[in-house]
Amino acid sequence: MKKRFLPINKDELHGSKEVDVVLITGDAYVDHPSFGAAVIGRVLENAGFSVGVIAMPDWRNPESITVFGRPRLFFAVTSGNVDSMVARYTAFKKVRSDDPYAPGGRAGHRPERAVIVYSNLIRKVYKDTPIVIGGIEASMRRAAHYDFWSNKVRRSIIEDSRAAVLIYGMGEFQVQEIARRIASGEPPSGIPGTVIMNKEAPADAELLPPEEEVIASKETFAEFYRRFYRGQQRVLAQPAGKRLLVHYPYYEEISAADLDRIYELPYMREPHPVYKEKIPAFEMICNSVTAHRGCTAGCSFCSLTLHQGKRIISRSPASVLREVEIISGKKYFKGQITDIGGPSANMYGFRCKKEWRCNRESCLFPSLCPRLEMDSGPWLALLKEAAALKNIKKVTVGSGIRYDLLMQAAGSGQPMGGVSKGKKAYRSTKVLGVRNPFSKGFWPPEARNSINPQQKRVLKTLLVSHISGQLKIAPEHTDPVVLRAMRKVPLFDLSEFVKLFFQLQGRGEKKQYLLPYLMSCFPGSSPARVRKMKKEIQRLFGFVPQQVQAFLPLPMTLAAAIYYTGVDPLTGEKFPVERSMEKRRKEHNVLVGAER
Ligand code: SF4
Repeated sequence: MKKRFLPINKDELHGSKEVDVVLITGDAYVDHPSFGAAVIGRVLENAGFSVGVIAMPDWRNPESITVFGRPRLFFAVTSGNVDSMVARYTAFKKVRSDDPYAPGGRAGHRPERAVIVYSNLIRKVYKDTPIVIGGIEASMRRAAHYDFWSNKVRRSIIEDSRAAVLIYGMGEFQVQEIARRIASGEPPSGIPGTVIMNKEAPADAELLPPEEEVIASKETFAEFYRRFYRGQQRVLAQPAGKRLLVHYPYYEEISAADLDRIYELPYMREPHPVYKEKIPAFEMICNSVTAHRGCTAGCSFCSLTLHQGKRIISRSPASVLREVEIISGKKYFKGQITDIGGPSANMYGFRCKKEWRCNRESCLFPSLCPRLEMDSGPWLALLKEAAALKNIKKVTVGSGIRYDLLMQAAGSGQPMGGVSKGKKAYRSTKVLGVRNPFSKGFWPPEARNSINPQQKRVLKTLLVSHISGQLKIAPEHTDPVVLRAMRKVPLFDLSEFVKLFFQLQGRGEKKQYLLPYLMSCFPGSSPARVRKMKKEIQRLFGFVPQQVQAFLPLPMTLAAAIYYTGVDPLTGEKFPVERSMEKRRKEHNVLVGAER
């Protein structure tokens, strides 16, 4: 059968009168596996449900969501690939002038708090059709959370949107199960990876402090956050008004084979032809391949821990290579695959001896877990095999890598499970105490001067074959206090890595750059600490990059909880926090060189 886009209007239904699910998204409709709405649409279609897509509806006009009429089963609503407040405002609460997920990259197509706005629009027209919300905005606002933009704790988004079910995480399993249940007249409750509002708590639920108290008191918020964060493998229930918010853990995790199937659904791998202008986000990812999901790091500022989780699910090499071949046949392909990776490219193939079932929020902090099995071999082999395919000139690593894990996973002569001898690993906060990370005393003994021939070979392979001008790494900061608030223990001496990187560049070879991602305004930071970081980065790298980030407390992240309360709710450690926009701007200016 001829491949087609999912329909965006009745003409494209080709004779059908209705659809099972109407999918509303704040992004343009790009039929590509990097766009969440396309994935959910294709997964539903593959399960036998018909789907209509309404992309970027005019939220001022209720008619914009009546394109397909009332769906047979439900409306599925997402803000798109990003939270609509993040899409709309900068870290200094200024309105952004662009939106890479819209045609021409122009801002203004997506409302603030898009999930709530779209849901209310639906309610104006279709009073009793179920609404299912999902995507990053719903997922990371699924329980009471600190909202940076209104500077207060907001209740769960399921209450404000009056949705029947909230899907958190990536959602492919949940959305199919919800569709099946609604189609067969069963209630969509108790589904792993979802949140519902209910009159009663399930018998096995752990009861959390009432939502009203969490909103009213910083202390109760911190207690709630700790229990919620650490309770992800249990059923949680929280009184909210006259009902209870029930949060079901996500046990039914998808397998590597499922991931292969999801990424090999019949995507058109292009924006819908209705768009006459380029969509910058698509241009950026059209020649790259997602090889795995999950991130073992658990950095406090990142949404991934509570969205995708720490479990690494890697696609099979054969599936990734098939996708590379499909890309190589596209008209827009010029010969270079710009990325094969995931949230941290070089975590492909990582495994856990406990099948990822444990209560630790990070496999790397405060110490490297001895059960983590790391090996860069499968990832490098995959890059090499992809580069050998017909019509492929080069395969490069476009996203950032964990340079420290690259070194540890290269094979240090230590047993699998990392450099440490397990329990005695540098778990003590002394490691990240008050010493300077650039002094020899800072680095744990295992991480110092441990470069062996295999590590050199791994980095050289990357340098010679898979970097196109620059390798991005993310030290983020150099101050031990800030790094502790970030939960980002460096597992390899940065200065040794930088030295090795430049040493390995052969004479006469094209010069490659090492680009460090840095962040200002993080809890624990200050203008003085940023000044010091800048000096150290300048000394090590020979320059300070202009493109640096100012910390933005993303909903439900641990860092947002620290920003709001001034305390890490998991450890009780206090951190100084700068909340004045003016002073944040000043600190950021120190880093970007605009200090006055
Ligand atoms: S046992 Fe260790 S490697 Fe496995 S999930 Fe837990 S922290 Fe990560």
